[in-house]
Amino acid sequence: MPLKIFDNAAATPIQLIDYFDDNIALYIKREDLIHPLVSGNKWRKLKYNLLEARRSGYDRIITFGGAFSNHIHATAAAASLGGFKSTGVIRGEIVQPLNPTLQQAVDWGMELVPIDRERYRKKTDHRFLERLKSQVGDGYIIPEGGTNLLAIKGCREMTLIDETFDYWCLSCGTGGTMAGLLSGLGRESTVLGFPALKGGMFLKKEINSLLEAAEITPQVKWQLIPDYHFGGYARITRELLNFIVDFRNDYGILLDPVYTGKMMYGLTDLIKMGFFPANSRILALHTGGLQGITGIEKKYGIKLK
Ligand SMILES: *Cc1c(COP(=O)(O)O)cnc(C)c1O
Repeated sequence: MPLKIFDNAAATPIQLIDYFDDNIALYIKREDLIHPLVSGNKWRKLKYNLLEARRSGYDRIITFGGAFSNHIHATAAAASLGGFKSTGVIRGEIVQPLNPTLQQAVDWGMELVPIDRERYRKKTDHRFLERLKSQVGDGYIIPEGGTNLLAIKGCREMTLIDETFDYWCLSCGTGGTMAGLLSGLGRESTVLGFPALKGGMFLKKEINSLLEAAEITPQVKWQLIPDYHFGGYARITRELLNFIVDFRNDYGILLDPVYTGKMMYGLTDLIKMGFFPANSRILALHTGGLQGITGIEKKYGIKLK
């Protein structure tokens, strides 16, 4: 079965958001529009992995993530569309009734395997993976968050655009998407990564080891901005939610509270503080993640859409 979902050229639209003081122009690249089900950077990360799984003759994809994971959701959709079976190893308990992320994954045929947090930490351990395969069936393994060398190759393709920008800004989890940008961009740009997790400086090491493993020497300058995690991964505050609602009302673009909302909050804050020189052209990546909103709305009893 061909992998039709990855056939499109993946040139996502770039839109002007607004001009700010000092003629600073903010644009957004709509990776969230790349595919109706397999959104944003997860499409990029899965592309070469699923092509490789197909080439190697695997019929099952095995991957890992938390209960609200965009990666679990995207992998379940992509595997189903590509005619693969899929297994999602879920960190911690699986609560019934399933949250919308896991329910959709199951509807797409993903088999869910809950693993306690202790054992989950061994998820890259060779012996653990062999035992897992003997339990759920052989399969092509994609690590948590989808980040590996083939993911970096896929994310690099986001940089294949005709225009140049002074700054590229993105939200970071594992740093795989960042590594892809760093492999594709040249000296004319600076990349700013906004960690969605607390302790974001740990990420710098992670990104450096990804670059080393991929034998990439970035030409582009890059920096992490660790001040906009809002208390940690998937933590949200009233201020963040208000920002997301205002941004949607002002510009008609919905952001997610786990990744892109925090990045955009931080980015607009930096613009206001005078971080960027006059006449800067800034490109923010909308890396997707909107599937998680329904679950977060339910959990907090709020409305974002
Ligand atoms: C997974 C995800 C990220 C983080 O990507 P990494 O490559 O792990 O850094 C950013 N934004 C969204 C919307 C995501 O789903």
